[in-house]
Amino acid sequence: MIETRGLGHAYPGGPSLPFGDVVVPQGGTLLLRGPSGSGKSTWLALAAGLLTPQAGEMLVAGQSVAALRAGERDRWRARCIGFLPQKLFLSEALSVAENLALVHFASGLPADRAAIAHALEALNVGALAARKPSQLSGGQAQRVALARALLLRPPVLLVDEPTASLDDASCADALALLRQGAAQTGATLVIATHDARVLQALPETQMLAFRASTAEATA
Ligand code: ADP
Ligand code: MG
Repeated sequence: MIETRGLGHAYPGGPSLPFGDVVVPQGGTLLLRGPSGSGKSTWLALAAGLLTPQAGEMLVAGQSVAALRAGERDRWRARCIGFLPQKLFLSEALSVAENLALVHFASGLPADRAAIAHALEALNVGALAARKPSQLSGGQAQRVALARALLLRPPVLLVDEPTASLDDASCADALALLRQGAAQTGATLVIATHDARVLQALPETQMLAFRASTAEATA
C-alpha cells in the first residue's frame, strides 16, 4: 500500500515539485506519467526513502518514510523496496548470481543460493546464473535486474522508465514481465514512464499525472 497527502519536493535551487495525492492498495499498480523533468524519478526516490519530502506525507508499505531515522531507513529500504532503475547497475566484476547475492550481503543476510536460483528461474534466466552482465542481451539484463529487485520479496516494486530504449515487441514483453514479477510476490508496482506505449498497454491502470515544472519551462 502506498498513500500520499500533500507531498512535495524541491531540490536546492531547483523547481518546486508538487505531487497529487494518491492511494494505491497493496498489490495494485500505479503509473507515474508525465514529461521528462516533471518529477517522476524524484517521486520514486521519495518512496524509496532516498530523499526526504519537504512537504506532506508519504506512507509506503504502512511506514511513514520521513519518520525513519537514517540507519533504520537503509534497513527498511532493503527489506521493503525493490528498485529497478533505468540504468540497471549490474556489476561486471561479478556473475549474475553474485550480483543477486550482493542483495543478501547488503541486507546483512546470509547468501541464500536457493532463493537466488528461484528468483532467476521465476523470470526464465536461471540458466544465465554464471554469466557476466556483458554476456546478456538487454532483455536478459532487465530480467536479471528484476529478479534482483524481487529477491527479498519486497512489498513494493519501483520501476523507472522500463521501456525507454525498447522496441515495441520488447516493450510489451517488459511490461508483462513486470506485472508477472509483481504478481508472483504480491508487490505493489509503481512504474514511472513518459512512454505513450505503456499508457496504451495498461489502459485500466491507476495513474498519477505529473506536469512539467514551471522552472523547467523557462530554463
Ligand atoms: P523525471 O523523472 O520526470 O524526468 P526528475 O524527478 O528526474 O523528473 O526531475 C524533476 C526536476 O528536478 C527536474 O527539473 C530536474 O532537473 C530536477 N532535479 C532532479 N534531480 C535533481 C538533483 N539531484 N538536484 C537538483 N535538481 C534535480
Ligand atoms: Mg526520470
